[in-house]
Amino acid sequence: MTEERNLSPCIGVLALQGDFEAHLKMLASLGVDGVAIRLPEQLEEINGIIIPGGESTTIGKLMIEYRLLEPLRRKIQEGIPVWGTCAGLILLAKETDNALAGQPLLATLDIRVRRNAFGSQRESFETDLVVPELGEAPFHTFFIRGPLVETVGPEVEVLATLDDGTIVAVREGTRLGTAFHPEVSGDTRFHQYFLRIVESVKG
Ligand code: GLN
Repeated sequence: MTEERNLSPCIGVLALQGDFEAHLKMLASLGVDGVAIRLPEQLEEINGIIIPGGESTTIGKLMIEYRLLEPLRRKIQEGIPVWGTCAGLILLAKETDNALAGQPLLATLDIRVRRNAFGSQRESFETDLVVPELGEAPFHTFFIRGPLVETVGPEVEVLATLDDGTIVAVREGTRLGTAFHPEVSGDTRFHQYFLRIVESVKG
């Protein structure tokens, strides 16, 4: 390992299914080392991990098949910063409205989510979100058959809501979740926000 590598964080992006490439591109555009994660051993080389959007039931099943579910859950419980976007947010949630179907979850973020929550009219849409943590300029983003956050636990901070109060971005310590897709927005502020969380624990 070179010294330079020690200084800059290395971010894993779970790359079993979904739009992991867009996250890797975003990280590359910020000059950050991003790694496509498919093997449990790779979890030892990273300082933070992003779980991308896609199909949460498929990603969950693949995590079992690739023997990643338990090791990743352990890593998150040990404190590695994690960010779930859309399907990734569902996988991080302690509870979903789909629990009876036995969907595998990492269950490490104290929220309950409702999948495909926006109905056929608003299934996919773009909007300008106010996210105080990112500064004054609104964050233009995309919802693609996204979930909503129905309830949050006492330690969970709400980072953004839609105009009607629907919770769409949350943080619980080093665990971040967004119901939308900042990786396709061209706006790097959410990725930079996650990188600041990673830097804060990397020491
Ligand atoms: N609807 C998908 C699910 O339930 C999430 C969609 C997405 O990640 N864009 O997993």
